[in-house]
Amino acid sequence: MSTFALAVHGGAGTIAPELMTPAREKAYREALELALRRGHAVLAEGGSALDAVEAAVRVLEDSPHFNAGRGSVFNADGQHEMDASLMNGSDLRAGAVAGVQNVKNPVTLARRVMDNSNHVLISGNGAFEFAHKQKVELEDDQYFFDEFRYQQWKETVGTDVYQLDHSDKEKKFGTVGAVALDQHGNLAAATSTGGMTNKKWQRIGDSPIIGAGTYANNTTCAVSCTGHGESFIRAVAAHDVHALMAYKGLSLAEAVRVVVHEKLPPLDGDGGLIAVDRAGDLVLDFNCSGMYRGHVGADGVFHTAIFR
Ligand code: ASP
Repeated sequence: MSTFALAVHGGAGTIAPELMTPAREKAYREALELALRRGHAVLAEGGSALDAVEAAVRVLEDSPHFNAGRGSVFNADGQHEMDASLMNGSDLRAGAVAGVQNVKNPVTLARRVMDNSNHVLISGNGAFEFAHKQKVELEDDQYFFDEFRYQQWKETVGTDVYQLDHSDKEKKFGTVGAVALDQHGNLAAATSTGGMTNKKWQRIGDSPIIGAGTYANNTTCAVSCTGHGESFIRAVAAHDVHALMAYKGLSLAEAVRVVVHEKLPPLDGDGGLIAVDRAGDLVLDFNCSGMYRGHVGADGVFHTAIFR
């Protein structure tokens, strides 16, 4: 069997170890492992990297523990506006949605944009109309309600503060993502998020921006980011990993190190990213205290981690 590899993340940030009860840690790790299992099953059967990253991200969107799909944070109007994207490394096709509401799995809507439209990125009401036409699963507002996120929002509502997904002692980004190499040598990446608590004016982060939060190119790597979206957009972070490999000949590990530890910090770019290259080498790196993450290869051994 040819090699294949998959990594997932559930956000990075300042994760306070003292708030991480064994029960909480178990819940996060179980969700990450379930996502890995879904994606691994696709890859082990010879399926595509694109199908694997979509399947893995859907699991994380369905979990209330992460800031994507079901667990999405509240915007300034007390609503959920979600962003997602995915990219196929063999032909550079991509699909993305921004500011979508009531869509159960924004990553699947992004996939439909890629497969069934002439566009790459659609947003707001238009994206909702497209979702209807495509008959993707919709959910009412109640499905997305989470008491913890609601309390986070209440702390900031009416102010100009927009927050990361955090509680008092934590500052974390709960965005989710996946990257994969399949048995045919193809790479793909996907990212999905609810964005930032109390975001205003239909703010859009890096997650649906191809090149910023997500990028895949068979000649180099596939990348999915999590962190302060404004900084990741300015750094064109995901594409920069590719560019450092393509133009400078850096290894994946070195390219990720430069972006995460040299280029993002001066831009207040707290966060991290996961990446995989053509050889199936995986790098999961971050410049803050933790990142919910996991990976699996052809050996079928599932690894999950939170802290460094
Ligand atoms: N990057 C996301 C955004 O800025 C946030 C996150 O990673 O949780 O929308």
